[in-house]
Amino acid sequence: MRNAPFYHGEKMEEVLKKHGFVFKKRYGQNFLTDPNLLRAIVSDAGVTKETTVLEIGTGAGALTRALSERAARVVSYEIDKSLKPVLAETLSGCDNTEVVFRDFAGEDLAALERELGAYTVVANLPYYVTTPLILRFAEESKTCTGLTVMVQEEVALRLGAKEGTADYGAITAAVARRGICEITRKVSGTMFTPRPNVDSAVVRIDFSRGGFPVESEKAFRETVRCAFLSRRKTLENNLMGAFHLSRGRAGELLEKAGIASGIRGETLSPRALGALSDLLFREGIV
Ligand code: SAM
Repeated sequence: MRNAPFYHGEKMEEVLKKHGFVFKKRYGQNFLTDPNLLRAIVSDAGVTKETTVLEIGTGAGALTRALSERAARVVSYEIDKSLKPVLAETLSGCDNTEVVFRDFAGEDLAALERELGAYTVVANLPYYVTTPLILRFAEESKTCTGLTVMVQEEVALRLGAKEGTADYGAITAAVARRGICEITRKVSGTMFTPRPNVDSAVVRIDFSRGGFPVESEKAFRETVRCAFLSRRKTLENNLMGAFHLSRGRAGELLEKAGIASGIRGETLSPRALGALSDLLFREGIV
């Protein structure tokens, strides 16, 4: 039954067992099996026959297979080489799909983008990898059109948080600079094998809508890091600490930016942080 459709939980468990696969906690291996959920994630990602998908975390290939059925091309990264025989079976017949058995964190994104052209990211990754990954695409990607990622519910809230709230942070601003972020669905822990301790949500970050330009991406990154350097300190104090400025100079810059003294960085909207970063860039601070 090499070409049998691969989306039933039972079948997946059989295949994993047959190849002596052992789930590894260190790689956050909680696999999805529900065919309706898999199809819904592919729809959330807006995948069509023209789409190139970069998937990160192939696992047993259930989502990869669902993506492959709808996309032009799927390139999927998997760190765990022991999944090779499993994937040879579960992705059999997926001719538009290539699995790369490497740690995605070590990949040269610019070189990969030259090879992929325009692409969208789909990922159901361990939670400790997801936040740095989203940040990396928000800050460095050039041809990525967006990301559809499974995240812990609390991370989903952080991604779409409003300024001034406890959930608002550097990642919120970095993502907002590139596009619009929305929660497309909540996913109970019961949908995974094995079941994790937390509930999750699928988040769609669309780089083709919203977002705003800045004069220097590096200046924006450093301004955002400065604004959240110490959340309890004022922006003026953080500016002094991050850029080795006197209080007088920091105050002067805030006045030029039209920002009241005494405020905290976390109260500035992503766009206001963008305007501040443009000023710091023009003044030669970053
Ligand atoms: N996409 C599959 C699914 O939805 O069932 C698997 C999801 S599982 C949560 C995450 C997968 O990512 C695991 O198979 C794990 O081995 C892989 N992984 C973890 N860290 C990785 C990394 N840095 N690069 C590539 N794959 C990674």
